[in-house]
Amino acid sequence: MLEDKRIAARLSPASRRGVTRIVREKVDLYRERLAGGENIGAEGLLESIRDEVFREIEAVGRGTMRVINATGVVLHTNLGRAVLGDRANEVLSMVASGYTDLETDLPTGERVHRDRRAARLVSLLTGAESAIVVNNTAAAVLLAVDTFAGRGAVAVSRGELVEIGGSFRLPEILRSAAGAVIEIGTTNRTRIGDYEAAIDQGATLLLKVHTSNFRIVGYTETVSLAELARLGKNRNVPVMYDQGNGILLPLDRAGLEGEEDVASLLESGVDMISFSGDKVLGGPQAGITVGAASCIDRMRGNHLSRALRVDKLTLACLEVALGEYWDGSSSGIPALRMIKEPLEDIRKRASKLAGALKGAGAGAEISLEEGESSIGGGSFPVDPLPTVLVSIGLDGGGAVKLSAYLRSLDPAVLARVRDRSVSIDMRTVSGHEEDILTQSLLAGIETISGRE
Ligand SMILES: *Cc1c(COP(=O)(O)O)cnc(C)c1O
Repeated sequence: MLEDKRIAARLSPASRRGVTRIVREKVDLYRERLAGGENIGAEGLLESIRDEVFREIEAVGRGTMRVINATGVVLHTNLGRAVLGDRANEVLSMVASGYTDLETDLPTGERVHRDRRAARLVSLLTGAESAIVVNNTAAAVLLAVDTFAGRGAVAVSRGELVEIGGSFRLPEILRSAAGAVIEIGTTNRTRIGDYEAAIDQGATLLLKVHTSNFRIVGYTETVSLAELARLGKNRNVPVMYDQGNGILLPLDRAGLEGEEDVASLLESGVDMISFSGDKVLGGPQAGITVGAASCIDRMRGNHLSRALRVDKLTLACLEVALGEYWDGSSSGIPALRMIKEPLEDIRKRASKLAGALKGAGAGAEISLEEGESSIGGGSFPVDPLPTVLVSIGLDGGGAVKLSAYLRSLDPAVLARVRDRSVSIDMRTVSGHEEDILTQSLLAGIETISGRE
């Protein structure tokens, strides 16, 4: 196998061991299939194995694939959440291809914190005394709980023990970092007295969590952040709010009126607020905690902060995203642009696409439909984004085939599939992707219709 021309051409000193392993795995697989009585036949057997080995060698080395997101989920965790803007692009290639002042203060030559610029910017933007940047919000919560309740206890309402997509299960994170977890209140009602009782039982951190992706309605009661902050001050116990979605500017969107920005939330007097860099903020994956300098300093002093720190590429992109807010040009943040795109603009882009697809395949039925986009990322319990979908109706399993075809392209196209249609939401498709999306859909519809 290793002497096969195509395979031999892909051998390098570093890959030889791995390629050999792939060959063995494939041969074993075929051996099992034959032993299982499968009728494979000797004819062309070696050729089939060679083909599969070669495909696997290629696939392993291919790396990240570009995707056109036509799902309408703006912060799609499985597709990398927030798309970064043009400035991030430029800065990324500068940072990637050379050395930077990551931990060196150039004027003095002294060693400094790598997140100093991002922390300063986000402090200035939110009015916080100080800030720290770690790998993601899960890490931010872990660091705070370890710092303030590692030997003590964290108190959290039973109504806020959330699970957020991608296996962020708050109870489990708390249990792994805190000396003890004191669950207070009930699923639907928690009162200030419950927090007081928790402090009497030894709570050393009061944690409030944004119930990002669900809502409890009916007979409910929660404690306001201001009330909780007051209690914390009186009893000298730090209070943290895991806000999650990272709204820095009021979103002004119907359906999101209840969502406060970080600066407003800080005015409640809460000691710390944590949120993600790659949700509504629109930057790279990161967990940002803003708040009282005394609290942030204690987290910095925790040895875990070394394990949770972010790399130079992430920091550079985060600085760019925060810089867009600072310069007042948050239109440079693609995620915000997508969330705020007016329905009529989406309708225009959808009509244009539908027009281009009309008559593509005999069996395909192209129509426009009212629908909903989704902010995603587990950031909001409801999806308040009306949209217009381009629906491609195909009979006889055609929708599933079309979506598989679209995923096999480069760039791949991801769309929503319902039983007999594939729908395209232009909200998450950038202007520069429109042509290639149209071409991909045309080719797909023609291929699939042709196969019927
Ligand atoms: C999204 C979210 C998290 C997890 O954030 P990651 O950055 O994905 O780790 C934690 N808490 C809340 C409230 C969230 O909304």
